[in-house]
Amino acid sequence: MANSLKTKSLCKLSKGDIEDHFKQLIAITRDSRFICVKCARSATDKHWLCKPKKAS
Ligand SMILES: [Zn+2]
Repeated sequence: MANSLKTKSLCKLSKGDIEDHFKQLIAITRDSRFICVKCARSATDKHWLCKPKKAS
């Protein structure tokens, strides 16, 4: 039962969510261009983060 992560930001994920969506998270973080300056999480797109900052 893989429900989509689309409505959540990575910053809000619980440990259970991370395990449940691990493959999707690899796709989201593999080519990260943004870093959350509040949570230190990274993603390919800023909409995944609560305080995104472009990494380069
Ligand atoms: Zn954040």
